[in-house]
Amino acid sequence: MALIEIDGLTKVYRLGDVDVHALRGVSLSIEAGEFVAIMGSSGSGKSTLMSILGGLDRPTAGVYRLDGIDIATLSRDELARLRNEKIGFVFQSFHLLARTTAAENVELPLLYSRHVSGAERRRRAHEALARVALSGREEHRPNQLSGGQQQRVAIARALVNRPSLLLADEPTGNLDSRVTAEIMALIQALNDAGDTVVFVTHEPDVARYAKRRIVLKDGLVVTDEPVANRTIAKDLPAPEPAEAGAVPTSSGARGEAGAPPPLRTSP
Ligand code: ADP
Ligand code: MG
Repeated sequence: MALIEIDGLTKVYRLGDVDVHALRGVSLSIEAGEFVAIMGSSGSGKSTLMSILGGLDRPTAGVYRLDGIDIATLSRDELARLRNEKIGFVFQSFHLLARTTAAENVELPLLYSRHVSGAERRRRAHEALARVALSGREEHRPNQLSGGQQQRVAIARALVNRPSLLLADEPTGNLDSRVTAEIMALIQALNDAGDTVVFVTHEPDVARYAKRRIVLKDGLVVTDEPVANRTIAKDLPAPEPAEAGAVPTSSGARGEAGAPPPLRTSP
């Protein structure tokens, strides 16, 4: 059974008395462990598809099964719980709380799980920050971090519940090319470690980090193929002196049972 199965998905937005057909019948399946780039010009339906995959929105018609669960059968609360437990979402504009430390931002998704104690929340937040090579930055607020570091905090927040699926809508859209390479190296390392990743980009170079490329046009899939000439981040030459904190300085996760190893974004 695939992790994601969608069949005949449509989405119609009603704008005044005009119907906007954002998705016109999208069918595809994505297995656990895949790494998928979704491309397509502006307005082709990429964000609509991501919102539905992320349980943030429901389709007008068609079926979406995540991990075998037909989301149409879920109540609002059940869908919110499924989203919180199984899906991590990363946005172009980071969406971090400004007056809140990196660790507290990462803890947020855990606040909904009443059975997780404060100490456990902190431990997991530090572990997630270690996975994105931000150990030592736990107490920094967003304005004390670079754009790339802020996006890594957002990725740590998406990972903190150990979701089955990591979704990212143009995660490097606000970043320059050096930081984009660093973020894509991190996302590729997460996929190498087993995470399922689906992300949107409109840059062909960025899509080449993925293993599979899906192109949407006017709400339909027009291309769905393996990525030829994949970019393998760990084979790239070392970047110029990375921004401070790009390499773990200490690891909150080291030595703890069951904790995944910290991932390095540069060799
Ligand atoms: P993309 O992310 O590929 O740029 P979107 O999924 O955001 O595309 O949008 C697909 C189409 O749906 C566009 O025509 C857009 O204007 C329309 N659309 C998206 N969201 C809404 C909304 N909330 N209300 C009305 N129309 C929308
Ligand atoms: Mg979009």
